[in-house]
Amino acid sequence: MPPMTWVYDFAEGNKDQKDLLGGKGANLAEMTNLGLPVPPGFTISTETCRAYLALQESGEGGQPDGLADEVTEHLAALEEAMGKKLGDADDPLLVSVRSGAKFSMPGMMETVLNVGLNDTSVGGLAARSDSDRFAQDSYRRLLQMFGGTVLHVDSELFSDALDEAKRAKGTESDLDLDADDLRGVVATFKQIIKDQTGRDFPQDPREQMDLAIHAVFDSWNTDRARLYRRQERIPEDLGTAVNVQAMVFGNFGMDSGSGVAFTRDPASGNQGVYGDYLQNAQGEDVVAGIRNTVSLADMSDIDRTSYDDLMDIMNRLERHYRDMCDIEFTVERGKLWMLQTRVGKRTPEAAFRIAVHMVDEGLIEMDEAVLRVTGDQLAQLMFPRFDETSERTLLAKGMNASPGAAVGKAVFDSDTAVEWTARGEDVILVRKETNPDDLRGMVAARGILTSRGGKTSHAAVVARGMGRTCVCGAESLDVDTRARQFRVRDGETISEGDVISIDGTTGEVFAGAVPVADSVVVRHFEGEKLDDDLAHAVARIMAHADGARRLRVRTNADTPDDAARARRFGAQGIGLCRTEHMFLGERRELVEKLIVAEDDEGVEAALAELLPLQRQDFTEIFEAMDGLPVTIRLLDPPLHEFLPDLTELSVEVALAEERGEVDEHAVTLLTHVRRLHEQNPMLGLRGVRLGIQIPGLFRMQGRAIAEAAADRMAVHGAPRPEIMVPLVASVRELQIVRAELEQQVAEVEEERGIKLDIAIGTMIELPRAAFLANRIAKSADFFSFGTNDLTQMAWGFSRDDVEASFFSRYFEHGIFDVSPFESLDQLGVGGMVEMGTKKGRKTKADLKIGVCGEHGGDPRSVHFFDEIGLNYVSCSPFRVPVARLEAGRSVLQRR
Ligand code: ADP
Ligand code: MG
Ligand code: MG
Repeated sequence: MPPMTWVYDFAEGNKDQKDLLGGKGANLAEMTNLGLPVPPGFTISTETCRAYLALQESGEGGQPDGLADEVTEHLAALEEAMGKKLGDADDPLLVSVRSGAKFSMPGMMETVLNVGLNDTSVGGLAARSDSDRFAQDSYRRLLQMFGGTVLHVDSELFSDALDEAKRAKGTESDLDLDADDLRGVVATFKQIIKDQTGRDFPQDPREQMDLAIHAVFDSWNTDRARLYRRQERIPEDLGTAVNVQAMVFGNFGMDSGSGVAFTRDPASGNQGVYGDYLQNAQGEDVVAGIRNTVSLADMSDIDRTSYDDLMDIMNRLERHYRDMCDIEFTVERGKLWMLQTRVGKRTPEAAFRIAVHMVDEGLIEMDEAVLRVTGDQLAQLMFPRFDETSERTLLAKGMNASPGAAVGKAVFDSDTAVEWTARGEDVILVRKETNPDDLRGMVAARGILTSRGGKTSHAAVVARGMGRTCVCGAESLDVDTRARQFRVRDGETISEGDVISIDGTTGEVFAGAVPVADSVVVRHFEGEKLDDDLAHAVARIMAHADGARRLRVRTNADTPDDAARARRFGAQGIGLCRTEHMFLGERRELVEKLIVAEDDEGVEAALAELLPLQRQDFTEIFEAMDGLPVTIRLLDPPLHEFLPDLTELSVEVALAEERGEVDEHAVTLLTHVRRLHEQNPMLGLRGVRLGIQIPGLFRMQGRAIAEAAADRMAVHGAPRPEIMVPLVASVRELQIVRAELEQQVAEVEEERGIKLDIAIGTMIELPRAAFLANRIAKSADFFSFGTNDLTQMAWGFSRDDVEASFFSRYFEHGIFDVSPFESLDQLGVGGMVEMGTKKGRKTKADLKIGVCGEHGGDPRSVHFFDEIGLNYVSCSPFRVPVARLEAGRSVLQRR
């Protein structure tokens, strides 16, 4: 095996070598080769870091073979180029030792500047620079950074000592400390190091450098760095590079300084450079806020030549990288030096605007513009926001469960939420936690606030699905639903009817009404004609993504309003219309009648009352989606969900008995609630099993759909119903239900003298169904993967039970890095979807296949569904634009 190369000169690399050289090293190399003024230096590769860490882990210790020699060689070349020796007594070369991983990681060791200074070379630096003050300032900075990041001394000890020196001098600014003051600080800092570590600050320049290099490597594994990687989903095994670079000095005096800049405004995306400059400063001073910085415009007055050079370089960088860049620079006695660049981070708004501006400037093509924005960014742009400049009283902070800004009167139960909303009020539903019975209230409310539960609690999950603002787990709130109030920690009480504001993007809860601004992006999707650059940018990106995408995007919608909105947002039909909510509210009584019916006649009578209501539901939805497919799912949840709670009802009956009263109705109901009670409702009498147990139920729904379609055709509408049978495991189940449905359709055709075109398909949401998809396809006109239930069934856990209890442990252990309910578990559940698709299409080559789980609106999952060749995804109305964008990006990414 040829000997490894561990170290690369800046001139040897380029910007595409981030894996090997880290982001900082790769871009320093790129700038060097562009001929920009970059202080020379070398990069020790990420491979070296991995080899070094492996040695530490194995207990062997030390450093990789040959590394010391390579560093010596490259250091010699650097010394040659600079005409100085590292830490030389008369004329010292000083270097910075800079960490730099592939992805920028604030969790890691920072940089050590001025390596090479010691008690002797500080004199040489003073003599050569003709500034004792500058030399002492540089030395104290080395001690401070080295002590903190390499020797792990509490950095507050240093900053406190520096503050003390300023106090003694009667000043607030470090610029007022003279050479002697700083000499004193140096002595104090050295003493701190000795006291804290039990040894003197290392005087040998090369030892300083080697210790700093090892410290950078070790910092890869600090808790902070690990945590950061987990949060940002950065792989554990990349390692970091180390850059060793000749120092340039911004702290030479007022003709020197250091700064940071962006080639465009990273907040708005506006053209024009943005940045800050600080005279007589080194390194992070400019961002540390120790003195007031000036804008780049003011820098042009201070040092015109450096400013002009800077503008010229920024222009070149942007054209070269074809993107917005951020940079770090230093001016040393009137000469500009470039210390860092990278493609800059930006807000979602800036991302869309910059991408489109760059197309207009001829820097990139539309394909690339679409690839430079993400569905997550689009989603963020769609939420309304609170006006941050207004005055606000913070009541509590919970988890930012579902973004947005909502203002309304606090209400504490669903009935009130629905009632007050009906009379035109905005309400926030406040609960300890929510359950499926709160759904009506959640639909009615502007926002939801809970004091319990995490980001994956019922409230959070349902709210996100509906695009409703939600703050959950605001534990400092004491919610008393009976008294209809909550108490804030400081004793203040908010009662029913008091106005509150909740920010689902930050998790904050405010008293009173904070002013809200609607999203221009949503207004644009709603069809408003806007003269707004962001709206134009979004429109152009969406048009291009739509042109590229193969996957169709439908919506999950249960009401005509949702359907209509989703259609404006670009939905190409309904992929999931749930019918369960159509049995709630006033209709609950009819369902009760159905359940307690003594005989067939009673059942038929109850169903006969439900039929016209159902028909009306469907007619309205077909109208809203005229000409587009509407997939209706037959009743899915267990019947007892429509009945009163077992415990509550038992108590009610018992109390009545005690009083010597008998409530016949309650007693009958209780018998049936007991009869229908299940240990494991998720695995009980639901879905297709209901259709087989109570055949009249699905028959009624099938008839309502057929009649609604006929009614629409009578007024020249174009209904395209698709009936979907849930929870099928065996083709036999589907055959039985299908026959019943076909008969209903045939009867309506006969009665009305028309021909109806109604597809009948099934959900694939049980592992058995995925496995036997080839058989099931024989009786199905289409498949729709219900990835929520499929995830539950595949993992064998019920979402409501597990998310709140042990998911956080699973994240900690890395069993999954994101909830499989939020982003599809591609290996396991995705594997079943892929298998089911292949098997289904083996039976029917052109079988139409979609997905109607929440995953249909999740960017990563959308790419997966596109890649395995599904026909469509279906998601909540607010996620429709996100899915459209990501489906387009998926195609463009493969090109
Ligand atoms: P970070 O990754 O935290 O940005 P850097 O390695 O960029 O850390 O360094 C921190 C600061 O030190 C930056 O302001 C950088 O410009 C400055 N710096 C790094 N190397 C040098 C050098 N050789 N000469 C002068 N300043 C430097
Ligand atoms: Mg930097
Ligand atoms: Mg299901």
